[in-house]
Amino acid sequence: MKKTIYLLLFILLNIIFYSANSCACISFENASWIDSLELTRNIFFSILILYVSEFILSKTLSFLNTLNWSNELPEELSKIYDKDKYSKSMDYEKTKYKFSTISSLLWFNVMVLILLFSWFWELYNYLHNFTSNIILITLYFFWIITFFQTIISLPFSYYSTFVIEEKFWFNKMTKKMFFMDSIKSILLTVLIGWWILALITWIYTITWNSFWLYTWWVVTFFSVFMMMFYSSLIVPLFNKQTPLKEWKLRDEIEAFASSVWFTLDNIYVIDWSKRSTKANAYFSWFGPKKRIVLYDTLISDLTNNELVAVLAHEIGHYKRKHTIQMLVFWMIQTWIMLFILWLALRFPEVSKALWAFEGNFAVWLVAFGILYTPISIIFGLLGSILSRKNEYQADEFAWLNYKPEKLKSALIKLSRNNLSNLRPHPAYEFFYYSHPTVLKRIKALDSIKTKKVKS
Ligand SMILES: [Zn+2]
Repeated sequence: MKKTIYLLLFILLNIIFYSANSCACISFENASWIDSLELTRNIFFSILILYVSEFILSKTLSFLNTLNWSNELPEELSKIYDKDKYSKSMDYEKTKYKFSTISSLLWFNVMVLILLFSWFWELYNYLHNFTSNIILITLYFFWIITFFQTIISLPFSYYSTFVIEEKFWFNKMTKKMFFMDSIKSILLTVLIGWWILALITWIYTITWNSFWLYTWWVVTFFSVFMMMFYSSLIVPLFNKQTPLKEWKLRDEIEAFASSVWFTLDNIYVIDWSKRSTKANAYFSWFGPKKRIVLYDTLISDLTNNELVAVLAHEIGHYKRKHTIQMLVFWMIQTWIMLFILWLALRFPEVSKALWAFEGNFAVWLVAFGILYTPISIIFGLLGSILSRKNEYQADEFAWLNYKPEKLKSALIKLSRNNLSNLRPHPAYEFFYYSHPTVLKRIKALDSIKTKKVKS
C-alpha cells in the first residue's frame, strides 16, 4: 500500500516535470510581453530547481536519520530507556517519519503544480478584476493562499493529534478544543498579519528607495513588542496562566533566584495538561518584564529539586545574555533578507518568472520567498549552531550554581517522557537540532566535573 502511494506520487511528479519542461519553454517563447526572456526563464528554472533541491535535501536528511534506528536497546541509552520504553520511542519515530514523508510529498506536489500552471498569476489576475488598489490586492492574495493552506493542513494536524499523539498517550485535547484552537489561530493570523502586510505594502508604495530600511524598523518593532507581550496577550487566548501557589516550591525557586542575584517578578503555571502530557518550561523576558512559566505537566513529572535545576538552566540563558544575542542575530538576518528583497524588486523578471505579465508586489514576494531558500538554510544552520552553544552555556550555569545531579536527572526524565530520539544522524542533528541531545549534554556536564576536579 505504502509503496504504491510512493510510486504513484513519483510517477505524477515525473509527468509534471516532463510536461512542464516543454510547456514552460513554449509559453515563454510565444510570449511577446517578456522583455528579457533569457533572464526570466533562468529565474523560473532557478525557482523550480531551488524548490526541488530543498525538498530533496530535507528528505535525504530525514532518510539518513532512519539509518540510526535500531531494534535493540543501544548500550549508550541503557541508563535512560528500558527495553520497552526504547521500542516505544522507536515506534513513535517511525510513525512520525511516515506521516511527515506523506504530508511533505503532498505539499511538494501542490506547490510544483502551482508553480508550473501559473496559479499565483491567475489568482492575481482574478483579483485585479475587483480592485486595482495594490494594498487590497496583496491582502486578498495572501488571504486566499492562507485559506487554502489551512484547508489542506487541517486534516493533517487533526490526524497528527488524534491518531499519532493519541496512540502514544500524549494527546489530551478534545475535538472541540482542537477546532476552537484552529479558529483562534486563523483569526489571529488574519488580524495581525493583515496589519503587518498592509503596512509593508503601503511602505513599498510610498518609499520605493528606502523600502527595505523602513520595513526593517517595522518588523523589528513588531518582534520586540511580541517578545514583551506574547506571554500576556497571546498565550491567555489558548491557556490559563495562574501564579504558582505551591509555597514550598515557590520558596525554593525564590531562594535559588536570589542566590544568583536574579530578581524574579512572576512565576506562573500554565494548564498544559489539558492539551498534552508533554512537559516544558519557558522564560520570557524583556526590559522589566521577567516571567517564568512552568507547564503543569512539568511540575507533576519532576521533583522540586529537579524543577529548580531546570529553572537554573533558564536563568542561565538570561545571565549569559542569550535572549539579546538571539534578537540581534534575528535582526541582522532580517536586515540582510530585506536588503536582498529590495534588490530583487528592481528586476521585474522575478515576478514575471512566475508568469506575471507585469511586475507586481504579491507575486514578487512569493518568487523571492523561494529564491531566498539557500540563504535561509544557511541562517537556519547558523541559528541552530548558536542555539546549541547557548544550551551548553546555560547547562554550565545551572551546574555551577545548583545541584548538577538534579539537572541530569531532570533532562533524562524529560526525554524519556517525551519519547525523544536520542540518537539522531549527525547530519540531521547538525541541520535541525536546536538543542544538543541529552547524551551530549550529560557528557558536557560530566566534563565540567572533571575539569573542576583537575583544577
Ligand atoms: Zn535552554
